[in-house]
Amino acid sequence: VMGVEALAAKIRKIPHWPQDGILFHDITPVLQSPQYFRLLVDLLVYRYMNQKIDVVAGLDARGFIIGAALAYQLNVGFVPIRKKGKLPFTTVSESYALEYGHATIEMHTDALKQDSRVLLVDDLVATGGTMMAGVNLIRRMGANVVEAAAILEFTDLPGGANIRNEGVPLFTLYQNH
Ligand code: 5GP
Repeated sequence: VMGVEALAAKIRKIPHWPQDGILFHDITPVLQSPQYFRLLVDLLVYRYMNQKIDVVAGLDARGFIIGAALAYQLNVGFVPIRKKGKLPFTTVSESYALEYGHATIEMHTDALKQDSRVLLVDDLVATGGTMMAGVNLIRRMGANVVEAAAILEFTDLPGGANIRNEGVPLFTLYQNH
């Protein structure tokens, strides 16, 4: 039976991309395999199928792929949290620091009901800046983050610890040292 070890091994590591010194973890080999894509989604479905989740929110862009499949299977709606300038309706936005410079993500102001229980999804937690910005957007709308979920967590960075320190349960399928 395939498990998380096999799933993690299916992630392709690309040295020096998108810039020198970065080892990029490419999940497209997982997505293009019907067995591994199903394994990924099913591992998350089994974790959340018996929890009360009102909606899945996915982070631009790989969080859309995982999050949409998960939402469909959990029979709940999906909310995209997008990079700045992509959403057409009124938005709430959150800026956060990157290694160099900053980034802004946005969500529609009517995307989440007050007090709703949100599962936040992305592919990977590195510095944790992106996931935490997503958490902040959800909280600012008066909704609750039941859990933040990702495939991979880089445990040599404090991102995951920072998120948990903010009182957000963080679940990652694999921790990469
Ligand atoms: P963080 O904000 O935690 O530093 O970076 C995580 C965000 O950047 C996620 O949205 C993720 O998709 C993207 N990212 C950063 N590094 C990688 C990587 O090596 N592989 C992938 N697939 N995404 C990455």
